[in-house]
Amino acid sequence: MTNLIDSHLKSQVLAKICTHSQEGIFILDADWCFVWVNESLSMILGYTEDELLRSPLAMVTHDPNSHQPYSLIHRLQNNLQIEDYFFSEFSCHTRYDVYIDANITVWRVDVENEFYYAGAIRDVRGSMATKRTLEKVLNFNQTTGLPNRTFFMSQLADHLLETYQELVIVRFNIDRFRAYLNALDEAVIDDLLNQLANRIGRLALGNLKIFSHYGVDDFAMLFECKHADMARDALEQIMQQFEMAFGAGEEQVYLHISMGVSVYPKDGEQMDVLVRNAEKAMNFAKHSEGQDVVWYDTSLGMETLPSLKLEAQIRRALENGEFVAYYQPKYELQTGQLAGFETLVRWHHPTRGLLTPFQFIHTIIESRLSFELFEQMLNQATTQILAWLDMNHSVNVCINTDASEFRHPSFLSSLQSALDKAHTHPNFDASKMIIEMTESSLMIKDDTSVDAVNALKNMGLSVALDDFGTGYASLSYLHYYPFDYVKIDKSFIDDIVHDQKHCDIVEAIVTMTHRLGMKVIAEGIETEAQANLVRKLGCEYAQGYYYGKPMSAREATDLLKKNSLK
Ligand code: C2E
Ligand code: MG
Ligand code: MG
Repeated sequence: MTNLIDSHLKSQVLAKICTHSQEGIFILDADWCFVWVNESLSMILGYTEDELLRSPLAMVTHDPNSHQPYSLIHRLQNNLQIEDYFFSEFSCHTRYDVYIDANITVWRVDVENEFYYAGAIRDVRGSMATKRTLEKVLNFNQTTGLPNRTFFMSQLADHLLETYQELVIVRFNIDRFRAYLNALDEAVIDDLLNQLANRIGRLALGNLKIFSHYGVDDFAMLFECKHADMARDALEQIMQQFEMAFGAGEEQVYLHISMGVSVYPKDGEQMDVLVRNAEKAMNFAKHSEGQDVVWYDTSLGMETLPSLKLEAQIRRALENGEFVAYYQPKYELQTGQLAGFETLVRWHHPTRGLLTPFQFIHTIIESRLSFELFEQMLNQATTQILAWLDMNHSVNVCINTDASEFRHPSFLSSLQSALDKAHTHPNFDASKMIIEMTESSLMIKDDTSVDAVNALKNMGLSVALDDFGTGYASLSYLHYYPFDYVKIDKSFIDDIVHDQKHCDIVEAIVTMTHRLGMKVIAEGIETEAQANLVRKLGCEYAQGYYYGKPMSAREATDLLKKNSLK
């Protein structure tokens, strides 16, 4: 390079630049001690020029919190033996033990058989803060501060590359979250999510590598352990956190979650396969009754139709009238008489045969098609009630609803037209038409639901609370609703004969329900012993395979005829 100025002038200009530069510039002797510093360096480090001169560079590069295996000064010295230039970001130790984000550049300079080091320290707190904010936005969920999906996936990728153990991938989300979104303020929802994250975070679970807030109400976890089974205890602890209520503004709610688990290498070797399989297991848990945690298993038929495809098929099926009402008999326990039927939907699928609600009801509710289904079941049931009345059979008929249907603008008018049609029959009794709603769909003390249930009562219909004991409701707010019947969920009945605790619970429910003037229906009776016990405990009605499975309208009619001959 040609120099256009003489070397003396050049030295003067360069000295001026160094003296006034915003960067902290310094020269070190061969022993790594400052022999010249500019004013900016004094400002950055907080020491006077006199204090710095003759002090070692190590005084400002020393960082006891560094995770690097070798100290910065060690790396710097080693590097400059091989190269003539060294650069690093570091935590700069300034006066009064304050550390600041900075970077350092050092060159080795040989002058007249002696050597020195020249360098610069730059205070990068501003740009580091921006970098950290950006990292936070990109890698962490803004509501809970937990690592987000991107971060989770990168950690999973790292573990897949390095692990010699089994990896357990867990996905879980909150059941009926959409109902919460509709009913609660955004701030309350955020608070709920934070409570959830904190509860789980506080557990300090063994083998947990990352707990991630994956999406709105979606969470993911990664465990690394010798045997996947070792994570079972942790999952159990997580589920226990949902037995306690969460604060939701002035109210308390019980959140329920569905959890799916996949295991590396058993359920896949690739990241996306493992995550997808955990998600399939989670969806399986959501559909299945009473199974909160499901481990991926191909034999369980988790390869169900993807939801979007299913939704399109459901829409078509609704138009083609493929949903058909089946009827499960219900008996009066004192007299042993057939008291009526519960209407349960079945799908006559053109290629897959007769499908039960487990395979599609969740998608119907999620795709907001449950009102359309309700209308079809209501119309079929009404026609059936009239046909049975024509044969002189006056029985109870239950129809299932999901409380989300109450918000549909045509819900009440559609019921009213069914009732108008039914009332044309002189023997029709509206109170024998029972609208069932599941406890989990009702939400806490939600005004829309309370109003809708009251409106049903005003129309002369009866109302029943389905699956009692599995949802958010509890005995304490039963009295907000004018239920005529409470159906005790099958999960309490299953081991009632052998488990005194369940027996006591059922007895307590019966006592409380009777005090509120409601009758009790025991669901899922499969044995004579169960039937005898629930009768003894005071339940009025029973339903279950012991008495009869859901059957077609023709079979139900035959049963009615047979019964009237007795
Ligand atoms: P659910 O209303 O609690 O109905 C009882 C379910 O338990 C029925 O399953 C019934 O077949 C089954 N079940 C009855 N007795 C026994 C028994 O002794 N043992 C066993 N293992 N199971 C028994 P299904 O028909 O598969 O219905 C499942 C759920 O789907 C229903 O639970 C209900 O919540 C929902 N569902 C059914 N039809 C409709 C509908 O038209 N609309 C809405 N929104 N939901 C419906
Ligand atoms: Mg039901
Ligand atoms: Mg039920």
